[in-house]
Amino acid sequence: MTVGVALPFPVDHVYHYRVPPNLEKVAHVGCRVSVPLRNRTVVGIITDHSGPPEGVRSLRLVRKVLDDTPAASEQLLALTRWIATYYVCAWGEALRAALPGQKQGTQQPKTVRFLRPTLAFASAAGLRDVIEQLRGHKQRALIRTFLRYITAGRPFPAKATLLAESTASAATAQRLVAKGILEESEEEVLRTPDYGNIPDRLTRPPTLNEAQAHAVARLDVAVQAQSFSTFLLHGVTGSGKTEVYLAALKATMALGKGAIVLVPEIALTPQTVQRFRARFGDQIAVLHSRMSYGERYDAWRLLRTGRCSVTIGPRSAVLAPVSNLGLIVVDEEHDSSYKQHDPAPRYHARDVAVMRAKMEGAVCILGSATPSLESLHNARAGRYQLLQMPERIPAPGVRAVPLPDIRLVDLRREARVGLHRVALSKTLRGAIARRLKRGEQVILLQNRRGYAPVWECQRCGWLPECTDCSVSLTFHKATDALRCHYCGFAQRPPDVCPECRMDDFARLGTGTQRVQEELRRFFPGARILRMDQDTTHRKDAHYTILSSFGRGDADILIGTQMVAKGLDFDRVTLVGVVSADVGMGLPDFRAEEHSAQLLMQVAGRAGRRALPGKVLLQTRRPEHPIFHYVQQHDYTGFATMLLEARQQLRYPPYGRLTNVEIRGPDVKRAAKLADRWAETARCSLPKELAMLGPVPALVAKVKTQYRFHVSIKAPRSVRGLSDWLRSVRTEFGAPPSGYRVAINVDAISVF
Ligand code: ADP
Ligand code: ZN
Ligand code: ZN
Repeated sequence: MTVGVALPFPVDHVYHYRVPPNLEKVAHVGCRVSVPLRNRTVVGIITDHSGPPEGVRSLRLVRKVLDDTPAASEQLLALTRWIATYYVCAWGEALRAALPGQKQGTQQPKTVRFLRPTLAFASAAGLRDVIEQLRGHKQRALIRTFLRYITAGRPFPAKATLLAESTASAATAQRLVAKGILEESEEEVLRTPDYGNIPDRLTRPPTLNEAQAHAVARLDVAVQAQSFSTFLLHGVTGSGKTEVYLAALKATMALGKGAIVLVPEIALTPQTVQRFRARFGDQIAVLHSRMSYGERYDAWRLLRTGRCSVTIGPRSAVLAPVSNLGLIVVDEEHDSSYKQHDPAPRYHARDVAVMRAKMEGAVCILGSATPSLESLHNARAGRYQLLQMPERIPAPGVRAVPLPDIRLVDLRREARVGLHRVALSKTLRGAIARRLKRGEQVILLQNRRGYAPVWECQRCGWLPECTDCSVSLTFHKATDALRCHYCGFAQRPPDVCPECRMDDFARLGTGTQRVQEELRRFFPGARILRMDQDTTHRKDAHYTILSSFGRGDADILIGTQMVAKGLDFDRVTLVGVVSADVGMGLPDFRAEEHSAQLLMQVAGRAGRRALPGKVLLQTRRPEHPIFHYVQQHDYTGFATMLLEARQQLRYPPYGRLTNVEIRGPDVKRAAKLADRWAETARCSLPKELAMLGPVPALVAKVKTQYRFHVSIKAPRSVRGLSDWLRSVRTEFGAPPSGYRVAINVDAISVF
């Protein structure tokens, strides 16, 4: 018997091995195997039982089969194969993304030893009888511990805990086992993270409003049809999209089918996860990048073995082993965290979701208040069915909840106190003060972390730069450090300028730490929480900050874009954007789309229930058209304008964009390599494609690696793009060691 095995290396083919006779019965397609490759042993997946390619005579032997049931189902093999083809990577790389953890093949279920009374003694009365009869006081102490658990109505703990609590030795336990009073067993325990207490009000489904009921009715028809269709659910912030997902999920589960719910960066969306768990409890396996390997492996196995049929998770959950798939939900489908940048497979989970739904005959729902231009375009072209929910859900006893009132603050006029520049304008400060007085809450967005993005010598203009990256360092006051936001490098700020020997430094620009400091100065009594990358290192930090804000333990939450995502707090009546211009000037064709999404999403956090909401956007460019649309809550209008511009430039969604990054440690060699790649490509460039570059990347050096980009523009209807890219890669050959070429199909950004 011979098998094809996909290995996680960037090659186009599968490898072939012979299966020794003793493994023939277990070497199923989809099982992980360990196989020799040159002088190493590597783990791969059996993809088929095909023979070796012509001309190959001697094959090496499979060493071990690592699964009794295949790790990858037929459907997952087909899906990952599509990913490999479309995104120009190896099948083995795509499969690696679908399996839990990086330590492929090394995980084991966690088992624990238990001691329990045998059936005859497994009651309070039975145990009391035993105590009467026993001599040794250690033995009696151990039995008494069991008795305590029984009378307290608690399940018995693991053996180790039990022995520790009764100060009995393993030998004592062994004697009781020998007498037939206790029995010992080894059992699997699931490593599941704690999601905190789920509030009661989340467990009961509300009566749907008209727009929700309409959306659910249309989805229900699709779910019952049990065939492929895609919906774009465009509902404003607070319109109750999650209830619609929950209803569609319920209908799917009632048919005995499985489902996948994708949410962006799950640590930021504990509320959404809680709502799903509140309604469906343990039927939902949560997948989550901040889980330990063990936790992730257990969740994955619950799905693989069919003990759970629904999963909720970030990007990679689209590859979860859910069988009999009926529904995929992509919440906040516009979010760029759905695109994997590095390593391969550089897939877009939203697009993979649609493809998977198509391959498995499932319904796909893409939901957002600010849909991506791609999805809007697909809906307009009739490829997706459009569901709209233009109004917010009113609170009990309230007729309607309007979208918040959005005002601009012109920073050119307002950003001074006396001679000093401040981050918080008088208007914004006044609005905050009123909320504090009324006991309401405030969310402030400043999409830059640290204290001051620029630390500059006032005499000669010297700027500290990272030695490993071509970016200047950001000043962090909390740790008194200059920090690189690309590689994490940090140093103490110099006492004098290394160029001119003066000590006259300016700390320019505004990061979250500076905003926090100003808040403390202007509002000494206010309770302030900050949420950015620097305050969320710990595993559960997001959850701690958000739940503390939700309980009302703080008045103001200041943070980076983390605070814009899906938060649903009743008492937030003011949202302030400290500088609404951050990000808008980036030389990226999606900069305006992303800015509009961020502004409307963060605005959507205000006034979600009974109390009216207000939003203040501080800007130096109030005349920019984006603000007109944001103030009118007219996302569609802005998107329509952007779509026209994209159409003229043949940018996505009217064309397709591939970005190729060539990087390496020596700038000249990397540049040469990039030239050679472009030359190779140009020789066979199909005439409907346009190639640009190579050019140095916007940040030309990251972590000592020099980066060059080639971008390739293709018409939307292009055929054979992936095949051509693959042929260029083969023609080009492997880059020298230490250098690499990364092909990013449907790149989100070109820098
Ligand atoms: P979105 O995801 O569209 O921003 P949510 O699903 O978070 O909106 O809903 C906003 C709030 O309204 C939530 O607190 C939710 O529990 C509540 N809600 C949703 N649907 C209803 C309904 N039909 N009746 C009452 N409350 C609802
Ligand atoms: Zn200087
Ligand atoms: Zn750096």
